[in-house]
Amino acid sequence: MPLTGIEIFKLLPKTNCGECGVPTCLAFAMNLAAGKAELAKCPKVSEEAKAKLQEASAPPIRPITVGAGKRVLKVGGETVMFRHEKRFENPPGIAILIKDNMPDAEIDARVGRFNKLQFERVGLTLRPDLVAIKNESGDAARFAAVAAKVKAGTDAGMILMSTDAAALDAALKVCADRKPLVYGATKDNVDKVAPLAKANACPVGVKASSLDEAADLTTKLTQAGVNDIVIDSGARTVRKAFEDQVITRSAALVKKFRPLGYPTITFPCEMTNDPMKEAVIASMFVAKYGGILVMSDLQGETLFPLVVERMNIYTDPQRPLATTAGIYEIGGPKPDSPVLITSNFSLTYFIVSGEVENSKIPSWLLVMDTEGLSVMTAWAAGRFVADAIAPFVKKTGIADKVSHRKLIIPGYAAVEAGGLEEELTGWQILVGPRDGAHIPAYLKTWKP
Ligand code: SF4
Repeated sequence: MPLTGIEIFKLLPKTNCGECGVPTCLAFAMNLAAGKAELAKCPKVSEEAKAKLQEASAPPIRPITVGAGKRVLKVGGETVMFRHEKRFENPPGIAILIKDNMPDAEIDARVGRFNKLQFERVGLTLRPDLVAIKNESGDAARFAAVAAKVKAGTDAGMILMSTDAAALDAALKVCADRKPLVYGATKDNVDKVAPLAKANACPVGVKASSLDEAADLTTKLTQAGVNDIVIDSGARTVRKAFEDQVITRSAALVKKFRPLGYPTITFPCEMTNDPMKEAVIASMFVAKYGGILVMSDLQGETLFPLVVERMNIYTDPQRPLATTAGIYEIGGPKPDSPVLITSNFSLTYFIVSGEVENSKIPSWLLVMDTEGLSVMTAWAAGRFVADAIAPFVKKTGIADKVSHRKLIIPGYAAVEAGGLEEELTGWQILVGPRDGAHIPAYLKTWKP
């Protein structure tokens, strides 16, 4: 349970030495309670107090990592029920399912598709995260061979799905260094799976038949020294699985019930045979509150909406995605090329720059810092107005790069044209289109 500022203060040295960057221990305690400071900033705190504070400040849902190297997936670490309270922390991982009794050609095709399916959007690469290998054959050697094949085919994280400890052991022998999620520990095999996971320092997925059983299993695992756990409540109907997600999150956050304080794993792949319906079910778990989603297969038309939904839900609602302000050169502009200006809301930037590129007219694009607000919102907030635009244009030094004095402003800021001509002496202000889609046609009419 989080400590209050006063409770934290009682554990601090109370020397008011200021080495943490604030003048008093009380101020530092208040910052710690608000999540605005890190305990490490105080060099004088005792080891005993450190242990108490770290335990108290641990997130109610333990952050877990799956994988190794560049493609590590971090899930959990959530602190709120609703995104508007603060933000969601770690986007759920999306996994493609590979059964070890599939023909090798099908396995290769799935791994190839998994690697290929990635999308660029607002400067981010959106892609799936994990390959889940299921021991459908019941053959430990085949399971291990498929795990080795997948490991060689991708640098992504893996999930080893089997309730047979011998099969899990065989697969871990070929891919433990990839730190896969070992799924699943059941009430029958937990005594064998726990030492396996501990010896290989891998996270474990519990495979329960109810949330009560899941809580028993996580307790057994922690007693065995395994702390990185992912929970499967066992529900395979949409309604029950959804209820279990909400109950798990609520038990961890509201009731502070540690045995359920772990991210979850969900199986849309086992809830329907219809790929589109499966994607809709998965989208529900993206919103509430899946930690890992295992999909029967991945195709562009089902994956793309999921990764975009995930990106939108897991952006910080208090911090719009923003692009760095400055001059962007598109298509190798020359001194007589057009100069456009827009806001630094990432979506605006990518739409405008994309349309300028489509026009095939080399251009200078000035991206102004509006704190990530779109043109219309920034204008309404008084941040994309003549008084702010003019000093920015001067500061960019664009006047030294072009031979003309014409500036194209977005249609939504048309009312600023007069004020800008007064502020930017010698410049002619042209009002561009409101809609980015009309930029190519507009630029075709450009004359320096
Ligand atoms: Fe207090 Fe530690 Fe900050 Fe010094 S560094 S003022 S002891 S909290």
